[in-house]
Amino acid sequence: MNKIKKIVIVGGGSAGWITAAALARGLENSKGGTAALDIHVIEAPDIKTVGVGEATIPPIVGFLQYLGVNEADFMRATRATFKLAIEFVDWHKKGSAFYHPFGSIGVNIDGQDFYQCWLRAKAYGMQARYTDFSPAAKLCEQNKFYFPHKAAKDSFLAGAAYAYHFDASLFADFLEDYCRPRGVKKTQAKVKNVEKDDKGFIRQLHLDSGERVQGDFFIDCSGFRALLIEGALQTGYTDWSHYLPCNKAVAVQTEVSAEFRPYTRASAKEHGWVWNIPLQHRCGNGYVYSDVHCSDDEASAILMDNIEGRPLAEPRLIPFVTGHRNKIWNKNCLAVGLASGFVEPLESTAIHLIMRGLRAFLDYFPDTRCAQSLQDEYNRIMLKEYQTIRDFIVLHYCTTQREDSAFWRDCRAMNIPDELQRRIELYRDSGLLAYTPDELFKGPSWYSVFEGMGLQTRSYSTAVESIQRPALFEVLNKVDTLMGQMAEGLPSHKEFIKRYCAINS
Ligand SMILES: Cc1cc2nc3c(=O)[nH]c(=O)nc-3n(C[C@H](O)[C@H](O)[C@H](O)COP(=O)(O)OP(=O)(O)OC[C@H]3O[C@@H](n4cnc5c(N)ncnc54)[C@H](O)[C@@H]3O)c2cc1C
Repeated sequence: MNKIKKIVIVGGGSAGWITAAALARGLENSKGGTAALDIHVIEAPDIKTVGVGEATIPPIVGFLQYLGVNEADFMRATRATFKLAIEFVDWHKKGSAFYHPFGSIGVNIDGQDFYQCWLRAKAYGMQARYTDFSPAAKLCEQNKFYFPHKAAKDSFLAGAAYAYHFDASLFADFLEDYCRPRGVKKTQAKVKNVEKDDKGFIRQLHLDSGERVQGDFFIDCSGFRALLIEGALQTGYTDWSHYLPCNKAVAVQTEVSAEFRPYTRASAKEHGWVWNIPLQHRCGNGYVYSDVHCSDDEASAILMDNIEGRPLAEPRLIPFVTGHRNKIWNKNCLAVGLASGFVEPLESTAIHLIMRGLRAFLDYFPDTRCAQSLQDEYNRIMLKEYQTIRDFIVLHYCTTQREDSAFWRDCRAMNIPDELQRRIELYRDSGLLAYTPDELFKGPSWYSVFEGMGLQTRSYSTAVESIQRPALFEVLNKVDTLMGQMAEGLPSHKEFIKRYCAINS
């Protein structure tokens, strides 16, 4: 077997440094410490990183644990706050709001799925919303935070899950610091040329410093430029613009607001949506929009009308094409991060896709031949991951009831992926969800969005029909009381951060 001895990573944004850290950890030698092969990061000092990507989802907590980093140190270094949910404002219709909370919702009753029990209770006249039974949503409503894993095992809080908001450039710096003692080498230079062998495998990179860098395997983390996977290998790109209506963002950072919320806010606007991400030292804001429906100037004006603090810089424009590379792994090149594709940031999934891609790569780690079967299986898994995330995001657009702009009318009329269509139909007919267990978004996520977007189901699982009203209401009322008690006495998010990881402590 011809072992890979050297991996070259092009790009020093979040993707480049997450990749270097994951490989340094995943391929460390048996004694721990440095990686068992050479890892070399090349980043162009004069090509800026995309500078956004500051909201995450719960798998990142496990990733940091895998790296073995101290969470409080990480949060201090990246000025991070906690994230328990995304709040969707004005998506279903103007004036509406709902949470997509992280973690479990309710408890199974008589062994039956909580959502089905809740649908049954609703049919009996229950008023409480589905997400009223989410511990994460309860904390969000009250601007509070506490660690689910530190709560008593039988407490509802134990079912919550969390992620982080952090400063993207500090995040890359933090990971670079992690990589240095583990033997990862870094060169600051621009890749000018890519040299391939007669099988089309990449062999060496020519840098603008005159240096040549050889490698056995190359990882393209060069962002939207996709220098290796597209520039050198011409892998091709599947464009999803017909499913995902937004193709630009304008972003601006603002002064920190008085109270930082433990959730990302995504507010639907005339031609797209605005994000607000609270960090300890500033806020991240952006307007994601369709340039078919709105000019860049109008988008900037809408963004500036929807920020909370004083702007810290001029708004920055970021065009993008949603979709994915036809092969994320091609020959001896893997694309990670924006070089591999981009769905859109509504559910904060891009950094997760980076980590997911690396986990799969470590599972299918090749030798220098890069067997076609490994590449095919990897590409199958990652494409499935991209597709299910895409469908979950499309759900937010296509089910809107808004009619107040051409953008939203177009969203209501657009064709949607067949698989999503089938999911919606199954849900409408039965209240059930079609999904496979290894999908990123589980039942509570889909049901929160179905409910929040006002989809009506005609039925519920027959398995809950036998549960009688008094027994059902007794359990749900008890859950409601215990959830209320759960939040009492917990610290505010700000207070929790101050004690755990404040930047000045
Ligand atoms: C509008 C928007 C909002 C987003 N919001 C979120 C979010 O909330 N949550 C989330 O998870 N993700 C989000 N993302 C995605 C997230 O920003 C990216 O996945 C993440 O930042 C990784 O980017 P990257 O490292 O692939 O690319 P970049 O940050 O663009 O880095 C590219 C790197 O490649 C280097 N490079 C380029 N060309 C060369 C060359 N010729 N030679 C050497 N080096 C080169 C550059 O110097 C840079 O270091 C968002 C993306 C966009 C566009």
